[in-house]
Amino acid sequence: MQRPIKAYIDLSALTHNLSIARQYAPKAKIMAVIKANAYGHGLLHTANALVKADGFALLELEAAICLRNAGFQHPILLLEGFFSTQELALLEKHKLSTVIHNDEQLAMLTGCKHRELSIFIKINTGMNRLGFAPQQFSAVVEQLSSNPAVSQISLMTHFATADGITNNARFRDQLQVFDQTIGSTPMPCSLANSAATIRYPSAHRDWVRPGLMLYGASPFTTHTGTSFNLKPVMTLTSKIIAIHHLKQGDIVGYSGSFQADKPMRIGIVACGYADGYPRHAPTGTAVLVNNQKSRLVGKVSMDMLAIDLTELPEIPINSPVTLWGNGLPVEEIARAAGTISYELLCALPTRVELDILNEDIQDDFTRVCLESK
Ligand SMILES: *Cc1c(COP(=O)(O)O)cnc(C)c1O
Repeated sequence: MQRPIKAYIDLSALTHNLSIARQYAPKAKIMAVIKANAYGHGLLHTANALVKADGFALLELEAAICLRNAGFQHPILLLEGFFSTQELALLEKHKLSTVIHNDEQLAMLTGCKHRELSIFIKINTGMNRLGFAPQQFSAVVEQLSSNPAVSQISLMTHFATADGITNNARFRDQLQVFDQTIGSTPMPCSLANSAATIRYPSAHRDWVRPGLMLYGASPFTTHTGTSFNLKPVMTLTSKIIAIHHLKQGDIVGYSGSFQADKPMRIGIVACGYADGYPRHAPTGTAVLVNNQKSRLVGKVSMDMLAIDLTELPEIPINSPVTLWGNGLPVEEIARAAGTISYELLCALPTRVELDILNEDIQDDFTRVCLESK
């Protein structure tokens, strides 16, 4: 028998969230970020639901080629660029755009025989992760402009603190460094992730790069997605597969860290950390059972977790349980477990089956996509 755990992926929520991103950045083109298997939501149906985006961005070359083979004609940007000259050849073959962020990549481009590469020069404006130092900028532009393999140059940077509600001084510093660095260089620019798309119109420019918001979650720890009219795309659900009655003093699960202080009724849910539920979620973390609020008790194990049914005596075995998603923001579970929604979403393991909702939308849009070929 199949385990009852499933992740529902609501494609209509994806298209809704894309329209919200457009409302926030009406003048910018949208590069939908679908790295990490579309943040755990599954690549191709997600891309289909987002077919009205102006482009896609991801890091994984194989996934980018998979999009091309599926018929997507959009600009597709590789966010870390390429790692070898063999990969460069694949970029040309599949017309993939690429970030250039270091001297090694520049060297591989020098003398390369390709044509019509679309390059995004990444500038390190203060995050200190990827990108050329501002002092290198004009030399890099000069070198790429005179390279016959390069047909289009765009400029980009990435913000370290656009999601910080209190400290936006650093955001402004980075923006200022970017503007001073590029001066009047007349090239398309891409700066904003979800947080900057929502909060900083001054960073919208030519292309915004929203990721998380498209999946319905908020990049700000102070808010959930509903504050921005976003709808959760993934709902992780399972069922109660056992029920136990505890006496005072009985324990639940490994290590006995949870001990009943009174007679209790508990339900065992088929979902554990091997299903992507965070092991660090403590007793008290919210769970929905039959759409009613309950709480996690004891340690999450690999395949199961326990919930408190003492106040819900009518809940029978096989009752549906929502771990996060519709009615229970993933942000809330992430916060309880000391992490962020990004990590929970993109860590969804392959053993959890995806159940795609509203695929009729997908068919419409697939048609749009194929017609525009
Ligand atoms: C992941 C990523 C994004 C999207 O970030 P979100 O916070 O999910 O919107 C944008 N740009 C780059 C370079 C990224 O790596």
